[in-house]
Amino acid sequence: MRYALECVHCGRVFEDDSLVRCPECGGLLEVTLRYDEIDVDRSTFESRGLGVWTFRELLPVDEEPVTMSEGGTGLHPCDRLAEEVGVSSLQVKNEGENPTGSFKDRGMTVGVTKARELGAEVVACASTGNTSASLAAYAARAGIRCVVLLPAGKVALGKLAQALFHGAEVIPVDGNFDDALSVVKRLADEGLVYILNSVNPFRLSGQRTIAYEICLQRGWDVPDAVVVPVGNAGNISAIWQGFLDLYELGLIEDLPRMYGVQAEGAKPVVEAIRSGAEDIEPDPEPETVATAIRIGDPVNAVKALRAIRCSGGWAVAVSDEEILAAQRELATTEGIFVEPASAASIAGLRKFVDMGEIGGDEDVVCVTTGHGLKDPEIVMKTCELPEPVPPDPEVIAERIKGA
Ligand SMILES: *Cc1c(COP(=O)(O)O)cnc(C)c1O
Ligand SMILES: [Zn+2]
Repeated sequence: MRYALECVHCGRVFEDDSLVRCPECGGLLEVTLRYDEIDVDRSTFESRGLGVWTFRELLPVDEEPVTMSEGGTGLHPCDRLAEEVGVSSLQVKNEGENPTGSFKDRGMTVGVTKARELGAEVVACASTGNTSASLAAYAARAGIRCVVLLPAGKVALGKLAQALFHGAEVIPVDGNFDDALSVVKRLADEGLVYILNSVNPFRLSGQRTIAYEICLQRGWDVPDAVVVPVGNAGNISAIWQGFLDLYELGLIEDLPRMYGVQAEGAKPVVEAIRSGAEDIEPDPEPETVATAIRIGDPVNAVKALRAIRCSGGWAVAVSDEEILAAQRELATTEGIFVEPASAASIAGLRKFVDMGEIGGDEDVVCVTTGHGLKDPEIVMKTCELPEPVPPDPEVIAERIKGA
């Protein structure tokens, strides 16, 4: 086997793909690639189109994938914003360009392929919205029953519409994301459902392709810093592991520093980084306009802390006002429309530069995680639609001339 599952807590290693947590200690499992058994070089990937399955030798499945051409998202130079923020180079890896509009698709194409390989009858997740939208779509494509638990009243409209319309069984829960996740974990332990939250190691393997793609798109030149919004903390951990994979395989010569950004109202990872704690202190009442990162007890926190510390990065919190201002700035200066959680990476970058954590001469990639159309209600609150006028060229000409 070119991979195994390794427990993040006790270090035991397993070769049993039906596991989603350590049977010995209950810890999180991570896919570890056996680099000696993987025969790839730069040209292996350069000769293919860009997407998750470009990197199939590094993914822990051998079956025909359940796919909709996920990944292959743009890495957009943002020169005007770079100048304004004060860094020499800024690129935005825009994950909103995925099939269901968020990076979750990278994980789901791998995770649902594994679910089908294992013969799962019901797949399930708890979700702040995007995980459910993505799982609903991929489960539909695979023909597997899908159940999603959502915090009632706290899911952006676009995401809810996706989950419902793809035919998932949507169960709103009176509670927050963390409450919903603990229920799904329990049902998964009982064998009733196959869990596709970011505790699932196969899903996170798919998300490593964000790092793989960044390197390939940059001609294997590694950025100084990568900035990522942090909710359940799976993505920042997966991206860091992706860079480590390429480093171990000899495809890149450096590693970036990893920077995490949370919202002021949901910042357990930021607190732990600041205090130097081994683990996070959960926040029982997370709150933020950026619903995708409204998480108080991130399950992958220990891995994220390790990624940030080992890479020499840092973490900051940003206010809802800063998030919404950054969302608008990215839309109006660069043409990139992202949802609020994604804009946290831009708001965070500004802080890291002000703090001197990221230098003015550095080369930065910000990951924007989901599409702006996911949450139209939030932006309409701050936009004004003028009153209609008659279809009269003179009236409209006056308007344009600034009358
Ligand atoms: C899921 C999600 C996040 C948080 O990612 P984690 O892996 O949970 O840290 C951030 N932004 C968006 C848009 C998301 O959908
Ligand atoms: Zn263990």
